[in-house]
Amino acid sequence: MSPYPHLFSPIAVGHLELANRILMGPMHTGLEDTPDLDRLAAYFAERARGGCALMVTGAFSPNHAGRLSEAAVPFDRSDQVPAHRRVTEAVHAAGGRILLQMIHAGRYGYHADIVAPSPLASPINKHTPREMTDEEIEATIEDFVRTSELASDAGYDGVEVMGSEGYLLTQFIATRTNRRDDRWGGGFENRIRLPVEIVRRTRDRLGPDFVLMFRLSVLDLVDNGPTDDEIVALAQAVEAAGADVLNSGIGWHEAPVPTIAQAVPRAAFVDFTARLKGAVGIPLIASNRINTPETAEAVLAAGQADMVSMARPFLADAAFAAKAAAGRADEINTCIACNQACLDRYFTGQVASCLVNPRACRETELNWYPAETPRRIAVVGAGVAGLAAATTLAERGHDVVLFEAADRIGGQFNLARQIPGKQEFDETLRYFTTRLGETGVTLRLGHPADAASLVAGGFEAVVLAAGIVPRRFEIEGADHPMVAGYTELLSGVHQPGRRVAIVGAGGIGFDVALFLLEVGAASFTDPVAFRRAWGIGETAEEAEPRHQITMLQRRPGPMGRSLGKTTGWVHRAHLKRQGVRQLSGVRYRKIDDAGLHIERDGAPELVAADSIVICAGQEANDSLRRELAALGLEVHAIGGAREAGELDAERAIREGVELAARL
Ligand code: FAD
Ligand code: NAP
Ligand code: SF4
Repeated sequence: MSPYPHLFSPIAVGHLELANRILMGPMHTGLEDTPDLDRLAAYFAERARGGCALMVTGAFSPNHAGRLSEAAVPFDRSDQVPAHRRVTEAVHAAGGRILLQMIHAGRYGYHADIVAPSPLASPINKHTPREMTDEEIEATIEDFVRTSELASDAGYDGVEVMGSEGYLLTQFIATRTNRRDDRWGGGFENRIRLPVEIVRRTRDRLGPDFVLMFRLSVLDLVDNGPTDDEIVALAQAVEAAGADVLNSGIGWHEAPVPTIAQAVPRAAFVDFTARLKGAVGIPLIASNRINTPETAEAVLAAGQADMVSMARPFLADAAFAAKAAAGRADEINTCIACNQACLDRYFTGQVASCLVNPRACRETELNWYPAETPRRIAVVGAGVAGLAAATTLAERGHDVVLFEAADRIGGQFNLARQIPGKQEFDETLRYFTTRLGETGVTLRLGHPADAASLVAGGFEAVVLAAGIVPRRFEIEGADHPMVAGYTELLSGVHQPGRRVAIVGAGGIGFDVALFLLEVGAASFTDPVAFRRAWGIGETAEEAEPRHQITMLQRRPGPMGRSLGKTTGWVHRAHLKRQGVRQLSGVRYRKIDDAGLHIERDGAPELVAADSIVICAGQEANDSLRRELAALGLEVHAIGGAREAGELDAERAIREGVELAARL
């Protein structure tokens, strides 16, 4: 019997009989934004082969005004059908089913031609929308229906109508954004007319053998959004209009509450989907921060939903479903909810990928094959760069020995996993542990490699993945007992006092502040505590901060510019709530028993402290590289050992895989 009996039980969705209850939820990657969709076809086909029953594409707008960005291509012409047909044929050949997602961005479009029910700018967009006329609204309904027809011609099994996250349809539904007094505004019936008409007319025109999924906002997280009763009434109206299935949307993009970041516990929002159980007769899909088969199974077993949607987990591992079905969940490369290579990339105009899986969205480019001449290769350092390289090299047939000085694998991930929210990094280490065994890497823990042993070991090539060393802080008093590096703090060697000064405000400085304030806080793992902390349904909890923290940096201007585009604000919100002081443009003078002496705006100042934690960046640990090269050994450096500046785990893993694919 399957370890996940609910997840792998069949379900009917519209005219489709699906083998399991897993939806690969819609996620825009940027592969949609080119006229040639062959890379998109390869991306989805791989995920269909990986056992996902039903998938939804990223966003396609039904018309020009509804585009998400300047670069986005609407799906509104019949000459685009052949390119889409390559996607659907590839998916169907692999045994999958696929729906096309239709989004009209409304006031969320990142371009100047945006329209909305009322001319109200969104707080997250510099452009102000133009108010739609009655004729434009009617034409927009027709555009949705027309795109559904094109989708059907292209072989899609149906469409998802995006009615959540603050896009156009939500903008009509909520009084927050709809100030109209015609038949599209005012009372609830009028405000839901647009989404309901889109569903009704699409069903009328497309007939019964075409899945109509509606993405319903089950929780808006903004002021003046729909009431709970209105959400239920909308679900019922959409069902009556012909929807086959309801997917859950959580929060508008402008909501001041994280919905998919690491600060959100797993399955934190399924209770809001569950509220609709019994109110509608069509299947309900739960969504957001469901990233393991165990979590998905628990949602279904508790009867909170009929299916689960996972989007990012399929970037992380295309074979998620097949591995879970076969009882091989320990082989799943789990999404760690970092957003670094997916959403952050897309929102900075790049094609998405995945931090833990650099092949994601590069299925036609990044491939590896058995080595023509297997070689004996040493990999030095079992941080994520070394782990990625060693396992990929061994998979290709090389004879790989992985040396690690510490008594366990993971390198800096063992520190990162101490940060609240980053406990998900454990999954990456679990995955690599399984991969090491599967691929036959010889692992030597507690074994610092040196040049002599590598030469004596008869290796034909060395991959240097020895990471970094934290940068020393060179001022008078830096050897005072109150001074500690971030490694000593996070590994428990240094016990922090009440007043803490943090020198350096990069990613690690911010993480250290969060660690000091929140380590062990239930809100990162328990949905109820999370909702209480973020004021969802009740007033946010205010507790006395555990530490008085001052963060410092030398450069002027606001802190946290290097934090993730889609997650940095969550970090900043945590620290602001807890009263963290941030001092930029400082010069460090000395440390003594009173604390850290600085200069700011030309004036001396004391930051009184009981602990001073140094987070001043890193330098490459690359001395072995020069030694080995001098001895004539072929040596390749990756990750921190190649270049410490701008290093993150995305680059470390990508460099490991890319090197291993070509050696
Ligand atoms: P490392 O992880 O430093 O691994 C190097 C390994 O080599 C170590 O295990 C070391 O013991 C071993 N080694 C060194 N010399 C030898 C030798 N001679 N012989 C054998 N073994 C040796 N990155 C992100 O992308 N996102 C984040 O959210 C994030 N958060 C972080 C939070 C914290 C608190 C920290 C500290 C880091 C964080 N990072 C994050 C950074 C990320 O962890 C690193 O960029 C990444 O792990 C670097 O990987 P690496 O393999 O190059 O080096
Ligand atoms: P960083 O981002 O380079 O920040 C280093 C900080 O130290 C800066 O604030 C810098 O500011 C300061 N600094 C540099 N040299 C100094 C010196 N000689 N004396 C005093 N201060 C100095 O490095 P990091 O914070 O150590 O992070 C390392 C990498 O890990 C980053 O590249 C990051 O991408 C990754 N990471 C990512 C995340 C994430 O959430 N995505 C989290 C943690 C880490 P001034 O020069 O202005 O003083
Ligand atoms: Fe998940 Fe991070 Fe990969 Fe995005 S980049 S899919 S959040 S692991």
